[in-house]
Amino acid sequence: MHIHIFWDSLSPAGLQMPVARTLSAMLGVQASISDNPVRMMGYDQARKQINAQALLDGIQAYKHRHNMSDPVLLVVSQDIFRNGHSFVFGLARESVGAAVVSVARMGNRYYGKTDHDDDLIDRLSKEGAHEIGHLFGLGHCTVPECIMFRPDTLDELDGKKKMFCDECRTQLDQHKNLKKE
Ligand SMILES: [Zn+2]
Ligand SMILES: [Zn+2]
Repeated sequence: MHIHIFWDSLSPAGLQMPVARTLSAMLGVQASISDNPVRMMGYDQARKQINAQALLDGIQAYKHRHNMSDPVLLVVSQDIFRNGHSFVFGLARESVGAAVVSVARMGNRYYGKTDHDDDLIDRLSKEGAHEIGHLFGLGHCTVPECIMFRPDTLDELDGKKKMFCDECRTQLDQHKNLKKE
């Protein structure tokens, strides 16, 4: 098994390899990167955001067509939302092994500060690992430093460490073994 990262053409270039390496190290699973082959659907004119569920539908259809069972993580640059939330950093659909993350609110520029690639790599890796954690069956964690903690703000995302707490790590290893069988 390995993780397929689909990098949308508008997502920041040059971060693919460091993000893949960091994700891979955190999860203990190989990760590969390719250009996004999934059609981008679900743009909401009024909100100027993309419905994350529609993107997951697109990944689901693509995986089905290509008979892919490995987890897929799509990285997009547009701001994404789900119903009932003004925005989300990412969203996962465990039943089909599909996840999406958006860099829209991960850059310092969004908050009026100077962008740094290192910050972006850090945040993308944390959020990506979080969504893939869901794909492996993990729920949310109450430990603020843990990858499976659900961040509502950039500060909370930055407050997480690039690691799973002991309990989540144990669960992750168990679920990874189950998926291998
Ligand atoms: Zn979550
Ligand atoms: Zn945890």
